Amino acid sequence: MTDRPFYFGTNFKMHQTPTESRQFVSDLHERLGSPDSVQLFVIPPYTSLVWAVEEAVDTGIWVGAQNMHFAERGAFTGEISAAMLQAAGVDMVMLGHAERRQLFGETDAALHKKVQAALRAGLRILLCVGENAEEKAFGIEAETVARQLKIALHNFRSDDLPRLIVAYEPVWSIGEGGTPAGVADVEYTARHIRATLVTLFGTAGQTVPLLYGGSVNLDNCVDYARLDLIDGLFVGRAAWQVAGYVEVFQAGFAAKTEATS
Ligand code: PEP
Repeated sequence: MTDRPFYFGTNFKMHQTPTESRQFVSDLHERLGSPDSVQLFVIPPYTSLVWAVEEAVDTGIWVGAQNMHFAERGAFTGEISAAMLQAAGVDMVMLGHAERRQLFGETDAALHKKVQAALRAGLRILLCVGENAEEKAFGIEAETVARQLKIALHNFRSDDLPRLIVAYEPVWSIGEGGTPAGVADVEYTARHIRATLVTLFGTAGQTVPLLYGGSVNLDNCVDYARLDLIDGLFVGRAAWQVAGYVEVFQAGFAAKTEATS
């Protein structure tokens, strides 16, 4: 970890109404305020975005979208463009979440186009990468994340790096059926992610925040947060209630602070 803030956030997936998302942001701010050296974020469904954005004004909490289409406009029923997200006031768009890749067939090439479209719209990008169970079984975690990064970030200019955050989320570790990853496994693949970023961008690749996500909870967050290579935690189920969000954040941040002091 460098002098980057500690990043902590949650993806609501297909949960939470606009009212619930708004209340979440409000309660979160009431519980945590705007702590120094920390960047909090929430990623609600599309229908909640405008309400969450309104509630997040002046709190320092970033509101992100879960996906977007790469086209600027057109006959793409059911899709949302980067410009629409930008107009809704979101701070960030998450691209390449494992469920998008697995359940909706999102390819690296499509993600490349989405990254470019997000940049054109001036959005910050949270790019998710990670191997699936089969890739892990064959021992190609490093190759998998390198391929995902190299394609998604093809033609990405170093000048745009301040708008990029990467999350390492092993597919086999995410969601209900997921197994928490061993710390050594996270460290191994995070090292390869960092190395790929440096291959792509030289020393500027060191500046990109790298988060970890996948069955993170109160029991294991401390071990992940302590890792030097990890700048923050990206949490699903364990942070869907404000109380859980606050507990996991506080434990993770305390562990990071202790590890770096
Ligand atoms: C996720 O879906 O990005 C995630 C990390 O979920 P969970 O923590 O529930 O595994």
